[in-house]
Amino acid sequence: MNHQWIIAGPCTFKDYEEIYEIAIELKKRGIVYFRAGTFKLRTDPNSFQGLQEEGMEMLLKLKKELNIKIVTELTTINQIKKYGDKIDIIQIGARNMYNYELLKEAGRHQTPVILKRAFSATYQEWIKAAEYIRQAGNNNVILCERGIRNLFSNETRNVLDLQAIPYIHKNTDYKIIVDPSHASGLSYMVEPMAKAALAAGTDGLLIEVHTHPEESICDSNQTIDLETLDRIIERRK
Ligand code: PEP
Ligand code: MN
Repeated sequence: MNHQWIIAGPCTFKDYEEIYEIAIELKKRGIVYFRAGTFKLRTDPNSFQGLQEEGMEMLLKLKKELNIKIVTELTTINQIKKYGDKIDIIQIGARNMYNYELLKEAGRHQTPVILKRAFSATYQEWIKAAEYIRQAGNNNVILCERGIRNLFSNETRNVLDLQAIPYIHKNTDYKIIVDPSHASGLSYMVEPMAKAALAAGTDGLLIEVHTHPEESICDSNQTIDLETLDRIIERRK
């Protein structure tokens, strides 16, 4: 049982033990792709920015030790040059969707790229951003819908635009995955929205999961536990 369609793991982490414990549990469940950020682009400059290079060394150690694939966000051209070929999927975050020089650098590698939709990007802006990566030589681009800004309420972080799934499938040849965690910012919404995305035909999910969500140093409110993850996996089977 190999669940290639789901990418899971914590938002970020404080030490090796933390990612090891989570990754072991994910592996048991047949999850192949482990996500965790170490170069964090945080809205607040005073919040934890990730372990940076030290964290990347931990992720590479985890990859070797557990034979798990690593998905992590790279935020600068230099990071992509240094680590782009060492990890399994490069994540380009919502805040960098318009960073065209960064996109071109991701295009100079053959590592698959997950391109997150910027908070307020139109479909065309998002698709054109993906073309920057392709035109630089990397065909393996996966779009990720992660919720867009809405002007009408602040109860949720963003609003998940599930219409993006049929739109991207009908109008492009890109694969699209959905991140229900950053969409609402609320853990109780992750399971129903993950199921809705699956019903709408998403090619995959990217989800923040932790063995102890309440201890998560970042995004703990939207991080689901293993039991919730099990129910999402069960739904897709
Ligand atoms: C993340 O996946 O941890 C992240 C920061 O996402 P986004 O770029 O969508 O905000
Ligand atoms: Mn996060």
